[in-house]
Amino acid sequence: MASFDVIVIGGGPGGYVCAIHCAQLGLKVACVEGRETLGGTCLNVGCIPSKALLNSTHHLHEVHENFEKMGLMGANPTVDWSKMQAYKQDVVDGNTKGIEFLFKKNKITWLKGWGSIPEAGKVKVGDEVHEAKNIVIATGSVPAALPGVEVDEKVVVTSTGALSLDKIPESMVVIGAGVIGLEMGSVYKRLGAKVTVVEYQDKILPGTDGDTVKTFHKILGKQGFEFVLGAAVQGVDVADGKATVRYKLNKDGSESTIEADAVLVATGRKPYTEGLGLEAIGVEMLPRGMVKTDDHFQTSVKGIYAIGDAIPGAMLAHKAEDEGMAVAEILAGKHGHVNYGVIPGVIYTTPEVAAVGQTEEMLKEEGRAYKVGKFPFMGNARAKAVFQADGFVKILADKETDRILGCHIIGPGAGDLIHEVCVAMEFGASAQDLALTCHAHPTYSEAVREAALACGDGAIHA
Ligand code: FAD
Repeated sequence: MASFDVIVIGGGPGGYVCAIHCAQLGLKVACVEGRETLGGTCLNVGCIPSKALLNSTHHLHEVHENFEKMGLMGANPTVDWSKMQAYKQDVVDGNTKGIEFLFKKNKITWLKGWGSIPEAGKVKVGDEVHEAKNIVIATGSVPAALPGVEVDEKVVVTSTGALSLDKIPESMVVIGAGVIGLEMGSVYKRLGAKVTVVEYQDKILPGTDGDTVKTFHKILGKQGFEFVLGAAVQGVDVADGKATVRYKLNKDGSESTIEADAVLVATGRKPYTEGLGLEAIGVEMLPRGMVKTDDHFQTSVKGIYAIGDAIPGAMLAHKAEDEGMAVAEILAGKHGHVNYGVIPGVIYTTPEVAAVGQTEEMLKEEGRAYKVGKFPFMGNARAKAVFQADGFVKILADKETDRILGCHIIGPGAGDLIHEVCVAMEFGASAQDLALTCHAHPTYSEAVREAALACGDGAIHA
């Protein structure tokens, strides 16, 4: 039996960041991880492999759609699926090994195996029981099941299976028009599959700014995506390696089917807290296996904390990381804090979509007086040069004080552009503060400045 200041259960972005920061703050730390590699869902079967496939297929799309327009002629590249898979795996391996290196560098003990908590202050891994002054649950999430749909990870797959299909399907049905469904749908669309997205709600990306949804829907339509909205999937039948998706339209109850070589079930994720023994030791739980915590991430049992996908809030790697940092600070006697009002969300399609803060719909519901500064990428020289001028930057600011309340971007590099607005919001900046900041020309970020100008006297290039 070994004893530690902190044992973190789960080596994903929440857990490994928490462990590293605890070590940096002088605490003796162990991290329990049952997978063969560190990095959690994000590095192994989430953010990183999906971005590798989005990267390679984005280049393929560029070759097919835009190279000739730029005077780049010549033979079309063909896709070697097994090489693309090997590239994806190399990217994953590089990152997971990087975390292992950081653990060694920070003298963090990796307890290999699946952990449980027999009682407060103790963590069991295999046959060994270790002692810890504090325990952090960072066990993440797994894909949520859809009633009537049996996943075999071959024909009917979750995002995990979709990252490693045996071959590129000729047709794919994506159930769920959320971030994961649209990103993975983009991968297979660019690889030549006919992609149909079936969504229960009557719009894609529920909860996203309305203007963004409309523009993004149009752009994906131009890229060849087909959508069946307002449709409840009733079941999926598989025969001879082909799937038939049965759905019912919400508006009139009529039933239809779609056939496909592969079906991706992307209807959300649920916390993975089974097997930890939480109920037995009296940890208060929320529905769907979510752990209840107070404002300082402590559960109802003293000395047991929880972070990341296992607790309420956006299921995002950077949200988990920030919570991991905050808990480490708290355990070291400092003041850890996460500003949930400034957590960006990004969709890594082409074009990218990014958002932070409130949407217009939220502000209306709140009854808050606000103004909108919107600038189309059509007025941005760089965006036009890369054939991505369809989107916009939209900044929402308080009508009276001009303080930035939210930002919604659809366009090239949106996932990076959003961060200047995040920083501005953290500093309580006004739209005018952004508008008065010199932005280099020609950059995509000039569109952010123009949107800020549009909150005041007006954009220059619109
Ligand atoms: P996880 O990353 O899920 O890690 C939890 C770890 O705990 C796992 O490795 C698990 O094996 C381990 N574990 C669980 N129980 C035990 C136990 N009892 N004992 C030992 N180990 C245990 N987020 C983004 O921000 N950006 C993206 O681009 C993005 N893309 C995504 C793409 C896909 C396809 C998917 C599925 C997710 C994506 N996400 C993305 C979400 C992101 O992966 C999660 O929000 C993030 O990984 C959550 O981090 P976590 O540390 O809470 O949990």
